[in-house]
Amino acid sequence: MKASLEKLQKYFKLEATRGYDNNAVVGGLERMLENWESDARADELPEEIIKAVVARIRDYSRLSPKSRAEVLEGIWRRIQQGSTSPQPTAPQEETASAQAEEIVDEAATPEEPDKSDIQGMQEPEIDPQTHQQDEIEDQLSGEPAALNASITVIAGIGVRTAQIMERLGLMTLKDMLYFFPRRYDDYSQLKTINRLQYGEIVTVIGTVESITTRKLRGGKVTVVEAVVSDGSGSLRANWFNQAWKAKNLRSGTQVVLSGKIDQYLGRLVINHPEMEYLERQQLHTNRIVPVYPLTAQIKQRSLRKQINQVSSYWAPRVQDPLPKKIRQEAGLIDLPDALLQIHLPDSWEKLKAAQSRLAFDEIFLLQLGMLSQKHAWQAREARVFETTDAFLGQQLRRLPFKLTTAQQHALADVRRDLASGRPMNRLIQGDVGSGKTIVAALGIALVTQNGSQAALMAPTSILAEQHYQNMLTTLAGQGKQISAGQTGSQYPLSSGQIRLMLGATPELEKQEIRAGLADGSIKLIIGTHALIEDPVVFADLQLAIIDEQHRFGVAQRASLRSKGNSPHLVVMTATPIPRSLALTVYGDLDLTVMDEMPPGRQPVSTHVLMPIERERAYTLIQGQIQQGRQAFIIYPLVEESENSQSKAATEEFDRLQKDVFQQYKVGLLHGRMKASDKDTVMTAFRDAEYQILVSTTVVEVGVDVPNATVMLIEGSNRFGLAQLHQLRGRVGRSSDKAYCLLIPDKDDEIENERLKVMAETNDGFVLAEKDLEQRGPGQFLGTRQSGFAELQIATLTDIRLIEKARQHAQELFEQDPELSQPEHSLLAEFLQRSWSNDTGDVS
Ligand code: ADP
Ligand code: MG
Repeated sequence: MKASLEKLQKYFKLEATRGYDNNAVVGGLERMLENWESDARADELPEEIIKAVVARIRDYSRLSPKSRAEVLEGIWRRIQQGSTSPQPTAPQEETASAQAEEIVDEAATPEEPDKSDIQGMQEPEIDPQTHQQDEIEDQLSGEPAALNASITVIAGIGVRTAQIMERLGLMTLKDMLYFFPRRYDDYSQLKTINRLQYGEIVTVIGTVESITTRKLRGGKVTVVEAVVSDGSGSLRANWFNQAWKAKNLRSGTQVVLSGKIDQYLGRLVINHPEMEYLERQQLHTNRIVPVYPLTAQIKQRSLRKQINQVSSYWAPRVQDPLPKKIRQEAGLIDLPDALLQIHLPDSWEKLKAAQSRLAFDEIFLLQLGMLSQKHAWQAREARVFETTDAFLGQQLRRLPFKLTTAQQHALADVRRDLASGRPMNRLIQGDVGSGKTIVAALGIALVTQNGSQAALMAPTSILAEQHYQNMLTTLAGQGKQISAGQTGSQYPLSSGQIRLMLGATPELEKQEIRAGLADGSIKLIIGTHALIEDPVVFADLQLAIIDEQHRFGVAQRASLRSKGNSPHLVVMTATPIPRSLALTVYGDLDLTVMDEMPPGRQPVSTHVLMPIERERAYTLIQGQIQQGRQAFIIYPLVEESENSQSKAATEEFDRLQKDVFQQYKVGLLHGRMKASDKDTVMTAFRDAEYQILVSTTVVEVGVDVPNATVMLIEGSNRFGLAQLHQLRGRVGRSSDKAYCLLIPDKDDEIENERLKVMAETNDGFVLAEKDLEQRGPGQFLGTRQSGFAELQIATLTDIRLIEKARQHAQELFEQDPELSQPEHSLLAEFLQRSWSNDTGDVS
């Protein structure tokens, strides 16, 4: 079978075994298309097959698992019918022999020799054939085409290892080149043995004097002990449970040891040092050593070596797409240099320069991509919706309150966009409780009064349901007294024209909704992801609204939009992002900021308590519950995993229910729960079946539980200010006084100082700016929720660099929007490549 088909089969099979979760390829199956397409062409697959595969996989992420299965099976059938390759077979068990490969930590017993250490003595070579090929391509392209070769071209990486490495997203040489270290160990401090001090991290060069193996604890632990001397003194090095080390190490060999100096029985020792032979290039010792993210069965040293091979050979062969002028103005080093230094920095300064350069590129390309998407989007035509003042006035008069100035501005923006003849593409950013929903409702009224359809998508069922109730009241007057002289016809919609579609909606009802949307009798559909996963077809979708947009990816946005023909789009978010950053990450959207709260809202009274004052917090909670109120108690991410966070919350939940709040009903919510269970708990809390909700940070954004008046946040020092503010927004949603209590882990004055700002202001934008100052942009860009997780390096950098990159991109775009000037051709190519992975918002 041709290689490209084999690859396809591999992915399909993996998808099947994973239950079609679209994770066989990191970032989604679409991600494979780009490389696959060129591979398939190289394999001379029939063009119509290539086209069919590409066309169907493009939409893959939007499908339900069931449809995904059908699509993949369909594709495979198609290939079998039309392929020129001898006998393609349906996906079946792979026969590739599982050879032992260097990088795989086979049995993973402690006694197992570290094969990389042994075999690593002969440096594997990259297939020279690929080299040649690249020399030719070099002239034409910014990146040698060979970089798209599978990592299996590297000696020591076979099919099995490649499968494991794929978990890290490493499939091609290019993936390796752009797989950046998580951190660095500084082994650059070289010292003579007589100057060593306890506790320091150093590198020592010396000669092995002796080597012995001992058994400890009744033979359970093996210690290999080497004495190394350098003329100034001698040092004992210990390795535990690595008996094979003794076989490798002979006295008289010159070695380099790096690690932390420890003490044993009053003498300095070095435990578990990294070790290399002096006569070889040092990769693991005696320098700033990169530490890569790992996955099970991959070893740091092996991966480091493989990546080093790739980067030292390929980085210098990459052409720099950034025009020289920009590079100079922005004070950036060139790309080959940056790619070398990021993997194997010569110094901290050079590392910093490399990070700056790569961060600049990420932002610059992101920005250019967004600008051209915006450009393309704005070139489209959209239905014009003109609204008379009379109609609008009528809608506004019915509201139980007067719009804030910020709401009026947002509404004016929406109204103008709807009348512009171009598709609206607007982000409404407004702090929690600033009243975005009503702006959405009015937008819906403007569109549906003309008979067109609108869709409103929210991240959770409970939020969708809340919106549904809201829209019924606002747009159809449900539950309202119709006073004399008024008739229901004043409302733009009837309640039957508004429907709710959730994953849990019974199939029969879904069918009915589908029919109503297809024939146009339903004007407004509100729902969750179900809206895009379901094969719903609209008669005339003209407005798509996405609430809490940070919970959805770009692809999902595109997906909802694709249900109409260039419909208008509004996305809403309560995450206050500093303007400078918002312009960058939402560069494809027009921005409306709602920076005002409805009147009468009391600021949440916020206090930082020390851990020993916890009882006071419980007393306050008790007091509020006695007045019929409810409370949230939030637990932080203790380690980098939702798992341990859930555990912390679960344990505390038991303790609180048993020992502290026996007389009340306590609910528990955490990220390991099924979505439906989360919804159940959240709904029960909303309906006051629980007085207290113990939760991790998953507690839903945007959910209105006006009766909750206290929030206690444990481990609050672990949160960014912006996130604390988000959490705090769950309370204070009525005119009753609300409290937020922050308890940090420790009584550490300096660390907790930061939290005091929370007590001083309730303004999310002020807090976001402060957060940016204190913690850098990583806070905003790096989180899973930001939707910009693909930014690897930019999260490490500072806002000035981000701003600089954005400005340069903007300037360049204004000057050459099509990137058609010759000095921009490489850039155009890079851009096309980095954005074609995306589902492309304009589709
Ligand atoms: P968010 O922006 O967080 O989505 P919501 O739209 O849920 O905020 O509004 C929060 C609350 O404020 C709702 O109960 C809503 O009815 C109320 N509200 C919205 N606008 C106003 C206003 N102009 N005056 C008074 N209350 C308002
Ligand atoms: Mg909201």
